[in-house]
Amino acid sequence: MQNTRKILAFAKREAGKLDVKLVVKAQPTDEDGYKIDRRGKQYVITGNNARSCLYGVYHLKNKLGRTGTFTTPWKVRGMYPCETLSRHTPSQIANFIDRMAKWRMNTFVCYTHYGYHEHIDTIKAECAKRGIDILYYHNTSFWFGRKWDPKMHFAVDEAGAPWTKALRCETRPCWSDPAAARLARREIEYFFRNVLPADHKKLLFSPADGYKHCHCDYCRRLSPMEQWMVMHDAVADGLRKHTRGREFHSQVYVHRYRPPAELRSLRQVDRFFFDTHQRFRWQVMGRPHPPLTFHREMEVDWAARTTAMNVYFMDRIKEWLDVVGKPITVFENLMVQGTFSCGQGNTSVLMGDLPVLHAAGVDGMLYEAFETSIESFADEFEHLSRAMWNARHKYTPNKLESWALKRFSKADPSVDPSSEIGAMANLIPSVLKDYPWKAAAEEIEPIQLKFMKLFAAFNQNPSAASAAKVVDLVMPRQDRFDSLWIGFWTLRRLFREKGIPGLSAADKKCLSYEKLWDFMEENPPGRVTTQRRIMSIRKKL
Ligand SMILES: [Zn+2]
Repeated sequence: MQNTRKILAFAKREAGKLDVKLVVKAQPTDEDGYKIDRRGKQYVITGNNARSCLYGVYHLKNKLGRTGTFTTPWKVRGMYPCETLSRHTPSQIANFIDRMAKWRMNTFVCYTHYGYHEHIDTIKAECAKRGIDILYYHNTSFWFGRKWDPKMHFAVDEAGAPWTKALRCETRPCWSDPAAARLARREIEYFFRNVLPADHKKLLFSPADGYKHCHCDYCRRLSPMEQWMVMHDAVADGLRKHTRGREFHSQVYVHRYRPPAELRSLRQVDRFFFDTHQRFRWQVMGRPHPPLTFHREMEVDWAARTTAMNVYFMDRIKEWLDVVGKPITVFENLMVQGTFSCGQGNTSVLMGDLPVLHAAGVDGMLYEAFETSIESFADEFEHLSRAMWNARHKYTPNKLESWALKRFSKADPSVDPSSEIGAMANLIPSVLKDYPWKAAAEEIEPIQLKFMKLFAAFNQNPSAASAAKVVDLVMPRQDRFDSLWIGFWTLRRLFREKGIPGLSAADKKCLSYEKLWDFMEENPPGRVTTQRRIMSIRKKL
């Protein structure tokens, strides 16, 4: 529920010297929209709700046009700092939410681990001022798997060994032991009865991240979707039994893009969160493109081997809308864990997605984003958010983007089956030999250009010297670069490929983590310990 008075007071402060009168419609609705009239020197902004008045103020301040009525067909417009709230400082979180409101967005997806306790008060306060909704993201393994015994209940690989030793981002259970399901059900009961705060109204439930499904003899007979439905059914039962008036969101993700045969608990969902991170990044959704040589979906669905991924995704989205019949928010992994603070240069593709997805019936867009390094993406978000409010918003690609579209639309340079994280590094044009550095020098901020050159040098030849240059550039500039992630990733790659002599046990332990956010969670305070580790390892180079 929006606190109208508080939001209007904030909007009035944001208006500054601009003479505005803010009015909320007599019958407010959740659908965002506002009308701007002029009476003499004063602008009268009539909002469908309080936050729409704030959008109206930003509309005028950003000179997006004068009087008129402004609406958006996108019911959900937002950002999700995927899994790592902990990489932010409190002031970065506040800046991030401030940007969202200026981009007229309405939804912040809040992970409920990895920095949640550190930041939740800031998130709630900053969102409340602006009327931004919080969607609480629950990793069901973290929440409901706390009593699982790694030796008995964790998912195992082909050789029968648990995929993870401790409960981490990618831990799933083995469903062949009914005890795992029983323990999860007990935790679900406890959660809904005793843990879930009364003011958490929008709840998203998802399985663990990644693809480490159980490969034991019994579980192999269940598809990843069928494995997930065991948990999904239990969560849905808990929700129905214990809570009222909350929104239930559920995630559609890798290996689970085909709806299951049994839809019972899916029918209870209010909205689906459809993750498209395996898409081809250089073509609009639904349009054909060169085949990807490797992606995860081909492991579970034959159609995904022979269909262009963006076409496959559109088919699945339509299938969910038809079969399950609930609204869909597409989750576009725009910043892909920060893409090493380099923009991807595919703004026109993402702009092209909006009308295509909307025509298919999608009415929500969320983007993966982090305040750390968002400067490299700020223009992109500006255009995308404007396009969500104005379908005729024009965008002209710059020289670099035109080059990238031409270069990458023929084949996907991002694919490297040996290493998914390596594939992410390869997304960055700067690692390519034919990268147009001259155009880049005209269009990219000097400090970022410098980073791209050093990072390209490291990627082409990982060595102590090339790693040291990357680390030395980013670590003192944590307000501009995603320093901790870049520092950790660079040193870990060097450690794995070439080794780093003289490391302490603590240094080695840090670099042995698969995911930085697991290290940060298990070694609090995460930002401080990561920084200390990176600097300690840097000294050994
Ligand atoms: Zn199993």
